[in-house]
Amino acid sequence: MKSEVVELKPCYRLDEWEIIEDSFSPERNFHSETIFSTGNGFIGIRGTFEEGLEDDAKLGAEGTFLNGVYEEGIIRYGEIAYGFPEKSQTMINAANGKKIVLNLDDETFNMQTGNILEYKRSINMKEGILKRSLIWQSPKGKQIRLETERMVCLQRKNIAVVKYKVIPINFDGKIEIISEVDGNMKDSLAEKDPRIGLGIEEGAFYTVDATVNADTAVLLQKTRKTEITVACAARGEIKTECFYGTGSYINEDTVGFQYHVAGQKGKAIDYTKYIAYEASCGSQKSILDHALKALESAVNQGHSRLIEEQYEFLSDYWYKSDVEIKGDIALQQAIRFNLFHLLQSVGRDGKTNMCAKGLTGEGYEGHYFWDSEMYVIPAFLYSRPEISRKLLEYRYSTLDKARARAREMSHSKGALYPWRTINGEECSGYFPAGTAQYHINADIAYAIKKYVEVTQDEEFVLLYGAEILFETARLWADLGFFNSEKDGKFCINCVTGPDEYTAIVNNNFYTNLMTKENLEYAYRTAVWMKKDHEADYERLVSAIGLEPDEIVLWKKAADNMYTPYSEKHGIHAQDDTFLDKEVWDFENIPKENYPLLLHYHPLVIYRHQVCKQADVVLALFLLGQKFSLEQKRKDYDYYEKVTTHDSSLSACIFSIVANDIGYHEKAYDYFIKTARMDLDDYQGNTHHGVHTANMAGSWMCIVNGFAGMQVHDDILGFQPYIYPDWEEYSFKISYRGRLIKLTINSAGTTYELIEGTELEITHKGESIKLRDKMILK
Ligand code: BGC
Repeated sequence: MKSEVVELKPCYRLDEWEIIEDSFSPERNFHSETIFSTGNGFIGIRGTFEEGLEDDAKLGAEGTFLNGVYEEGIIRYGEIAYGFPEKSQTMINAANGKKIVLNLDDETFNMQTGNILEYKRSINMKEGILKRSLIWQSPKGKQIRLETERMVCLQRKNIAVVKYKVIPINFDGKIEIISEVDGNMKDSLAEKDPRIGLGIEEGAFYTVDATVNADTAVLLQKTRKTEITVACAARGEIKTECFYGTGSYINEDTVGFQYHVAGQKGKAIDYTKYIAYEASCGSQKSILDHALKALESAVNQGHSRLIEEQYEFLSDYWYKSDVEIKGDIALQQAIRFNLFHLLQSVGRDGKTNMCAKGLTGEGYEGHYFWDSEMYVIPAFLYSRPEISRKLLEYRYSTLDKARARAREMSHSKGALYPWRTINGEECSGYFPAGTAQYHINADIAYAIKKYVEVTQDEEFVLLYGAEILFETARLWADLGFFNSEKDGKFCINCVTGPDEYTAIVNNNFYTNLMTKENLEYAYRTAVWMKKDHEADYERLVSAIGLEPDEIVLWKKAADNMYTPYSEKHGIHAQDDTFLDKEVWDFENIPKENYPLLLHYHPLVIYRHQVCKQADVVLALFLLGQKFSLEQKRKDYDYYEKVTTHDSSLSACIFSIVANDIGYHEKAYDYFIKTARMDLDDYQGNTHHGVHTANMAGSWMCIVNGFAGMQVHDDILGFQPYIYPDWEEYSFKISYRGRLIKLTINSAGTTYELIEGTELEITHKGESIKLRDKMILK
């Protein structure tokens, strides 16, 4: 489909480091709640106001998410079949610990009543603190200045802090602050949009215990089916020169404190609320103890120190991860925003992962997809490889479930990873675009390969990686076969590739190629282990019952992998039948009918040549060295015409490959769409959460796209290009113990070796020895 040039219409003020909202708009509110989400990979709090809104349900969605906290439901099928997943998994809303109600005599403050005379909301990505500053006039004419700050501590998994400062401007009078932990949270229900999900019908939590002592309020809740206990503990500190008294209360599912202040004109009431969350399936006592300990430690540090900690953590993050683009403030802001959100949402404990929408919304029910391996892991790999490792450890922790799923799917050996999941079990209710996406196995293997390529972390391979590689390779060996109808080539039938507008096909090009990689890498890893780590190898072989001829088979299957090609068109065919189908009527289908998934039955879509997202083109990027430039151009030209980019995972890949083949204008257009997709809501659904894969894709657009970074034959190489409108762009890469900074401008590329020893790299195909600093044309 013709790529449309994006007309930039920023929803927030353009700034290099800040996201700034200059006025409160009820219509924009739902979107802003997502944009102003704060998180730390465990806790995610939407940018909802502490006081909520009068029309909460209409104007937005309250949201406090804890990574890995989910509830199960029954997936109700009209017609069930063997092997369909029976249980849904939904990330649910935990208790709202940040809630504050502000009463001025008999009036309650709310952004929707009275008048807002001044307003600014912002988040500075160097500070990681959400700030709101406003002057409000109540319907009866009382004016207050309100300043709030919210921080989810990046350094402290369990902690969030809210600072709430009220100054009466034109009155003396009763001011009441009610500070609550509200356990009455609701989750969104199924809508006619598969990008939202089924939801949970009844309240997911019940309250186990609610207590308030002199300074701490605690709510202990448990999910009904998954039996996950969540503790939320809160403690408040009030500072004011005004007289005040305090009280506390416990209702069924809420606990809180009241502060009754004799407010005086011009005198500030400063309230700080420390909130701790902890969750697990373990003993309630230990969960509670842990939350209280974390709370105690945060309170003892004090708010100012926590602010410093946050700044230090972020300075460290930006030191390695920042991407600077001089001369394009919209892109500069966007890329930092994306990198900031990735950090805020990514699970870092090896037991959780990255939800498709991060911890910013209920979209896709908080499920983890291949988005993690193919988009998120690469974006962290070259700056924070330890995070990438944790995401892969999560996959290892669910390997047994993947083995069980393989058996359920009639594979006598190997493991089949779920297309979508939280707990490691498949929970996709629509198998043509779910379970059938077997490529998830090869994607995980590919991510392991990349991780090892960059870090040379052999320990990871020996402890976790090899087992995943062997089990995924076994699955492919079981699934595919040497097909006499196709010259004895190894074929894989009835799978769905990345493009979800084409389902259940034979020999999906991407799947077959990535499987070949998976099989080869598993084979090489087995040979290496046997030679260099025999004891580890023997231990693993005996643990999983691996036979010597299995490894031989992997090699044979890889060497004989079938890849569909059309001599007539001179292009790779997306699968065996894609090119036989009628081309979608792009000319006559109105714009309003996109995304197609909301307007056509899947069968109508499947019958046509139309792609939701990059499929062949993604393979051209990932395995770029295997194709000639001419071949890449032909494939790109063909598939671009039939791709709608209805998936947010598409535009970035088209941008990267466009740069590779010299289509720089296209690369730029796709990059803008990618970079500002959530800030400017290009997909129209950011209110359900940010698109984390796309966000990671924006980093790849710069590094793999414009700077052309690739690793060929084990050598790191770059092919830098500077877009004419930019003055300069720069970023750092951590690679095999080196830290390298690249700065690209019209004078050429400056390579700086900041840490580590000399390294051989390639610059525009020429081999160079990188030491200290060098400027190359
Ligand atoms: C895409 C998938 C992706 C999922 C979650 C879908 O629209 O087609 O490739 O994994 O969204 O981001």
